[in-house]
Amino acid sequence: SIAYLNGEYMALEEARISPLDRGFLFGDGIYEVIPYYGGKSVGLIPHIERMIDGLGSIEIKCNKSVDEWKELLDEVIARNDGANQNLGVYVHVSRGADTKRFHAYPENVEPTIFCFTFAIKDPEPVDREKVTAYSVTTTQDLRWKRCHIKSTALLGNVMHFQQGYASGNNECLLYNDKNELTEGSSVNAFIVKDGVVITPIQDNQILPGITRRIIIDSLKADGSIPVEERTVTMDEVLNADEVWISSSSKEIAPVVKIDDKPVGDGKVGQVWEKAFGIYTAAKFDHS
Ligand code: PMP
Repeated sequence: SIAYLNGEYMALEEARISPLDRGFLFGDGIYEVIPYYGGKSVGLIPHIERMIDGLGSIEIKCNKSVDEWKELLDEVIARNDGANQNLGVYVHVSRGADTKRFHAYPENVEPTIFCFTFAIKDPEPVDREKVTAYSVTTTQDLRWKRCHIKSTALLGNVMHFQQGYASGNNECLLYNDKNELTEGSSVNAFIVKDGVVITPIQDNQILPGITRRIIIDSLKADGSIPVEERTVTMDEVLNADEVWISSSSKEIAPVVKIDDKPVGDGKVGQVWEKAFGIYTAAKFDHS
């Protein structure tokens, strides 16, 4: 596939960065993954805005405007035949390569900008009998206290994901030291109880997921399913009628097993089906 690196397009295998790049040495960078279905993006502008916020919060100076980012990402997709397939575009801005390894932010270093694409799955059917159901495990959230920053330093997330994966599950749901749900290692989380969709509030304990935002906004606009953003305890998770996880690549995935125990009746729920229908109808409007 065709990658973009610092102003140039090249075969992905040809792309090279310095080992002194702070993205490599320190995980000092911000990234995004944006889905494009047949060339149409979901949440492109919110993804770009989140990245610009993240870069600002770690003082990486990269003065591309929202429009310039949009043009670049659309171009990367176009050069990879995005019109004829479903692609995710990964975009990564690190602080760049210094001449030494020193923790302090260097002056006068150009950020490294890297993009490449990869195939993503077709959207799942809006059908509770046919959709892929997920199983998850749970563990205490041992990441840092700045989970709202989409940092390329993902070791904490990687270790939690591996806990889920190694035990034969798709994800690992995380809870803080008050036994409150935060999110999953690479997804946001929702529960459904008595017809109400509930998701943890957006604070420093979770990534402000774009899919999470589109779900909340599209359900509110539709009006037929109540939505709440509030603290969710793990007791509530384990006693929920339905549990869902969301991300740009998984959209809204239903979870039917947590730590080997069924969620609700162990089948994909009716609220999931209705909500996923609403989300699917609205998702391209959120770009
Ligand atoms: N939380 C974490 C920790 C993530 O890495 C991600 C993205 N994979 C999400 C939530 C979901 O965010 P989005 O909907 O913007 O993809």
